[in-house]
Amino acid sequence: MSRERILVVEDEGDLREVVAYNLAREGFKVVTAAGGATALERLERERPDLVLLDLMLPDVDGLEVCRRIRRHPELGATPIVMLTAKAEETDVVLGLGVGADDYVTKPFGVAELIARVKAVLRRVQPAEDEVGPHAVQRGPVRIDPARHEVTVDGGAVHFTATEFRLLHYLAARPGRVFPRDALLRHALGDDESRLDRNIDVHVRAIRHKLGAHRDLIETVRGVGYRFRDPPR
Ligand code: CA
Repeated sequence: MSRERILVVEDEGDLREVVAYNLAREGFKVVTAAGGATALERLERERPDLVLLDLMLPDVDGLEVCRRIRRHPELGATPIVMLTAKAEETDVVLGLGVGADDYVTKPFGVAELIARVKAVLRRVQPAEDEVGPHAVQRGPVRIDPARHEVTVDGGAVHFTATEFRLLHYLAARPGRVFPRDALLRHALGDDESRLDRNIDVHVRAIRHKLGAHRDLIETVRGVGYRFRDPPR
């Protein structure tokens, strides 16, 4: 049984209760908020391990809550799973790059939602078992799993837990090509959800954050991705 604390932010009362009830039944400690302002208060007080965040909220909307969490000096790395009303909305939100770790589109099954929450929590665990806790330096990019820190040209850049894990996995194995399904399994953990298409989305976000060094992550057409070797 897990004891992680989940903050559920949802203004629709019935949905909030169903989600909270089912998470509690899975052994999570659940805290709820019906709006964005309350969510930010609860975040400070409860320091949740993950935030389940509805996009459309009556006061401070989900996007703004997400941005404020990411800017938070201590709680900025809190994993966020965003709830969106339709797939197109998810694409729009992704395009804004606010830094959620995953997205679940309504209507969703409770089992699916819980699987996604667990998968994101698993990903947050450092990948030490695979490549050791040592920092990886590749050209202008330095990835430090012990501190969950990425620097690009010496400046710190925030990566979500998912992006961090993916970048670290690829950078620790430069020149090797990984098919999308292998990345899904090894780097992100196989949660049997529909994250496959999200690999591309996460890679897009990573490239965006690498800025001028975006081509360090190479697309191998029809296969997958690799970290450029040598990095130049
Ligand atoms: Ca809503």
